[in-house]
Amino acid sequence: MIAGVGGLQGLSAEGGGEKMTGTPWTVHDMSRPVPPLVTTKGAVSVAAPSDAKILFDGKDLSAWRDAKWKVQDGVLIAAENDLTTIEEFGNCQLHIEWRIPAGRKVDGQGGGNSGIFLMNRYEVQVLQSNNNRTYADGQAGAIYGQSPPLVNATAPQGEWQSYDIIFEAPVYEGKEVKKPARVTVLHNGVLLHHAKEFIGPTQHMKLATYPENHPAKAPLHLQFHGDPIEYRNIWIREPSAYDIGAKPE
Ligand code: MG
Repeated sequence: MIAGVGGLQGLSAEGGGEKMTGTPWTVHDMSRPVPPLVTTKGAVSVAAPSDAKILFDGKDLSAWRDAKWKVQDGVLIAAENDLTTIEEFGNCQLHIEWRIPAGRKVDGQGGGNSGIFLMNRYEVQVLQSNNNRTYADGQAGAIYGQSPPLVNATAPQGEWQSYDIIFEAPVYEGKEVKKPARVTVLHNGVLLHHAKEFIGPTQHMKLATYPENHPAKAPLHLQFHGDPIEYRNIWIREPSAYDIGAKPE
């Protein structure tokens, strides 16, 4: 669990974190503009294509390691700890649907918080952000602690929402990152990020930087932040390469 605060605890009026290089903002800067709300019809539910790996189909938790999350009426409910895949992934296309339970008390980062961690490191935030103020780089669809989404496409609490995420793993040469991790995110069919770079693996309050060592693949995990956030219809694809290599004999 990386994102640890409830509400705005630990943050000054200006924000509590370190200065972000090349921007006027600090990490979790409360003066950073909040993206405009875009109204949608909620989740765009896409059935798994034939070459997808099914991570959750409403019943089966066999894709996950030591799964403690509950399954109820076809819905996966966060509990106890982060939920981590057995398989490891690098570049991927992920479809996932989530819901903040209706009637649950939410305040800032508390009450309605989870997250999608690509490669165990890169968080796309899950939060009740329909009518809930927090720092812009911590709202739903934010690259947590780094980049607010272009818009806020969060449906009202209690409604299903979808993320379609295209993630590109960082490329290293030796100990140097030559190409940072990048992500494209659609929330309820609306573009939040297009090939947006991560400045490093997700941090709370601190400025992210790339480590010297980084695996080529790592598990995906869903964050348990103390809240029983619900998930359904989770599948992942690993994109193939274009045909620009050697011509087959
Ligand atoms: Mg989170």
